[in-house]
Amino acid sequence: PKNRINVLLLENIHPEAIRLMKEEGYNVEVYPAGLDEDELCEKIKNVSILGIRSKTQVTARVLESANRLIAVGAFCIGTNQIDLEACLKKGVAVFNAPFSNTRSVVELAIAEIIVLMRQLFDRSAKMHEGQWDKSAKGSYEIRGKQLGIIGYGNIGAQLSVLAESLGLIVTYYDVTEKLALGNVRKADSLEELLNNSDIVTLHVDGRPENKNMIGEQEFEWMKDDVIFLNLSRGHVVDIAALKKNIESGKIAGAAIDVFPEEPKSNADEFISELRSLPNTILSPHIGGSTIEAQENIAQFVPSKIMEYINTGSTSNSVNFPNLQLPSLDNAHRLIHIHLNMPGILAKINKALADHDINIVGQYLKTNETIGYVITDIDKEYDPHIIEALKEIEHTIKFRVLY
Ligand code: NAD
Repeated sequence: PKNRINVLLLENIHPEAIRLMKEEGYNVEVYPAGLDEDELCEKIKNVSILGIRSKTQVTARVLESANRLIAVGAFCIGTNQIDLEACLKKGVAVFNAPFSNTRSVVELAIAEIIVLMRQLFDRSAKMHEGQWDKSAKGSYEIRGKQLGIIGYGNIGAQLSVLAESLGLIVTYYDVTEKLALGNVRKADSLEELLNNSDIVTLHVDGRPENKNMIGEQEFEWMKDDVIFLNLSRGHVVDIAALKKNIESGKIAGAAIDVFPEEPKSNADEFISELRSLPNTILSPHIGGSTIEAQENIAQFVPSKIMEYINTGSTSNSVNFPNLQLPSLDNAHRLIHIHLNMPGILAKINKALADHDINIVGQYLKTNETIGYVITDIDKEYDPHIIEALKEIEHTIKFRVLY
């Protein structure tokens, strides 16, 4: 029964998520703030689903106390705050919202490109100081300009579609093979892309190898008077080199939303070498911060968790092997999570055969740590099978769906 599923939602999670979980019949408890490790260890004992945002640390110690935990929902993009490996070993599936704010980031990038090409920010600031500076000098339309997108993932690809519709000519560079949308062209190297772009925008992920991937050499490869945007991750740009190239005038305008070091809260000062540079838009990591994105996250994460609880599907899980399962008709579904060791599937099937159980469908996927096996069986079955399956060595978690 679903009212036995206890949900704990921390950190002021959007009301839409609370509504959806209650509507599903879950028993929902809500906290406005986060909890520290000790408090969470205590609170989590009877929790089946934990919902957090970026502040709550889900550590191995927290998981030791989490004996009923089935899933963790990160109502955000990042999952660094969660010990994903410890979750795996405990059989806890983790879900996040990888593209709920994609459109928001793209819209901000488009706006910034136009604002920078018209030097609108500096002009507005001057107007506020009483200076009227009417001239066309250094102001351009975006139509027909070359836009170079580095990182053609969710955001890069979505940006390319909107940019083309505004008349930009788009080239991208990515380290993996991607489908080029619309009339977009792929660059064979980063150097080629930088040589030919009037506007360069970064949308790579934050993997450690990308640290300072845009530095002195890359700025040198860019055209004079380039417009440069970074709305990806702060550490991918060498800030000293960026500053130097803005001051020298090589970069005609820059928009930076992410920084190697960001203030922990709105109360802390923003400290950066980039303050007070000309035609430079600085924003406090708000690329994805819109009401719509918050709502999208609040719908996306619960839907993935409920799908997992109801069908066993792990599509979009951050740590579990991803399996998209058909819905259940006229069968029981056995969900078996185990440490990934050879021979476990054979043991599961031997136990089923020993209990004379007919398999209607079976799905297996593993990753380095765990194996995830779904077995659909006939409506009538010997209930002793449940004990037999739980007793298989290296079993982490076992669940039956009706
Ligand atoms: P994604 O994983 O869908 O796409 C990233 C792409 O970058 C992938 O295609 C990958 O192959 C490519 N890539 C990685 N390293 C590269 C390299 N060195 N050179 C070329 N290509 C490389 O991610 P996404 O959802 O499109 O997000 C992109 C970035 O935006 C991420 O860093 C994410 O953290 C950031 N982001 C920022 C905000 C914000 O508020 N500013 C909001 C959401 C996402």
